[in-house]
Amino acid sequence: RKPLQINEEEYIRQIQSGSRLHLAKAITYIESTVNDQQQIGQQLLKNLLPYTGNSIRIGITGVPGVGKSTFIEAFGKMLCDQGYKVAVLAIDPSSSLTGGSILGDKTRMEELAKHPNAFIRPSPTAGTLGGVHKKSRETMLLCEAAGYDVILVETVGVGQSETIVRGMVDFFLLLALTGAGDELQGMKKGIMELADAIIVHKADGSNEKLAKKTVAEYKQILHFLAPSSPYWQTPALAVSSLYKIGLDVVWENILHFQQVMKEKSVWQHRRKEQTIEWFKTMIVDRLYDDFFSSTVKKQSMATLESLVRDEKITVSQAVDDLFSSNPNG
Ligand code: GDP
Repeated sequence: RKPLQINEEEYIRQIQSGSRLHLAKAITYIESTVNDQQQIGQQLLKNLLPYTGNSIRIGITGVPGVGKSTFIEAFGKMLCDQGYKVAVLAIDPSSSLTGGSILGDKTRMEELAKHPNAFIRPSPTAGTLGGVHKKSRETMLLCEAAGYDVILVETVGVGQSETIVRGMVDFFLLLALTGAGDELQGMKKGIMELADAIIVHKADGSNEKLAKKTVAEYKQILHFLAPSSPYWQTPALAVSSLYKIGLDVVWENILHFQQVMKEKSVWQHRRKEQTIEWFKTMIVDRLYDDFFSSTVKKQSMATLESLVRDEKITVSQAVDDLFSSNPNG
């Protein structure tokens, strides 16, 4: 079979001149599980790498129903109207594990999707959470090369996904609802310690007063927690995406954060560390994939399993055998 070929130079030119179609196709190559398509994706990424790194990467998390997509739509639209180019990505732990989706398809953000400055990419659905993470990171880089100034990475408060997203963004936003006391009992302190800002969402109508009270409660709690970033006191902010209240304050905070982090060199340092972490994660992922896709290993694993089951050998011995060059001995 003839290997798949594309006009690489044309792709790169189109992506850099703002063709969302070419960007979307390049991401599809990156996400592909087919070898030669993957290679095209990697080749494009390699050529575009010098143009990456110029965005503000923002992670957004919160439980289902807290209003993540409504916030992203309103916040994204505000930025697009100011002339920023905004890309929205999602890491959906549910879809990678079960094929289902908690975040849902992003057609919910219909208005933002129509904006000429916006690009919305739903979560890749195949693979392990680590694999999805790799694809999302590479997608983020492609978006940067395509000139997007702000990358919003959405995830849901389930399992490891927050840690993964914290590990690929500059600024991490936690959306919460009113009643910090109640919610804190269900919320892990660890998640709050990942956040660079906490938004008390749906601060409108009859909920407004309670939201202000909740903000004060969060401020108190945050005072006792380790901040997510050095030189930064994590703020709590009241926001209504429905009535577009407080969105500008969120953005001011992010710009201020960027200024402080760049002055103190935390920004650059953190990104380098994130890349190294990514490298290590990919090594582990590759080892895992290679190991479990090896037919020889599968066979000896089956043999050793029955030996362990019949108590013929110990588990430690079985594992040693499995990793030795001459399994079953
Ligand atoms: P997600 O699951 O976190 O993405 O949440 P959605 O964005 O789908 O929002 C869940 C519900 O909360 C929807 O019914 C929204 O209309 C509502 N909602 C979102 N933002 C606000 C807000 O700022 N104020 C109010 N009152 N409701 C909101």
